Amino acid sequence: MGSAEVGGGGECRDCNDVLGFVWLYLDHEAPPTTCEELEAHLLECEHCQRAVRFDRRFKQLVRRCADSPEPVPTTVVESLRIRVERTILRGNTSPS
Ligand SMILES: [Zn+2]
Repeated sequence: MGSAEVGGGGECRDCNDVLGFVWLYLDHEAPPTTCEELEAHLLECEHCQRAVRFDRRFKQLVRRCADSPEPVPTTVVESLRIRVERTILRGNTSPS
C-alpha cells in the first residue's frame, strides 16, 4: 500500500520500523527503549517526523469525534483519515 511517495533519499529500513511503532508510541504503549530509538531517528528523519505529526493530529481528531464510548467503525476512521490527509496536504492547519 505504498501510496505516499516522498522524494529524496532512498528507502530507510529504520523508517519502516519507526512507522510500525508510531501508533504505539503515540499511545505511550511502546517500550521505553523503542521510544528512545524512535525519538533518536525522528531527530534526523524528516519523513518520519511528518508521519508522526500526521498520526498525532489524526488521533486527536478521532478522539474528538469519538464522543461515544463505542469504538469508532473502521469506515469512519478511514474516511476521517482521508479528510485529515487532504487537510494536511493542503497545508491548512487551523489552530484550535
Ligand atoms: Zn525515518
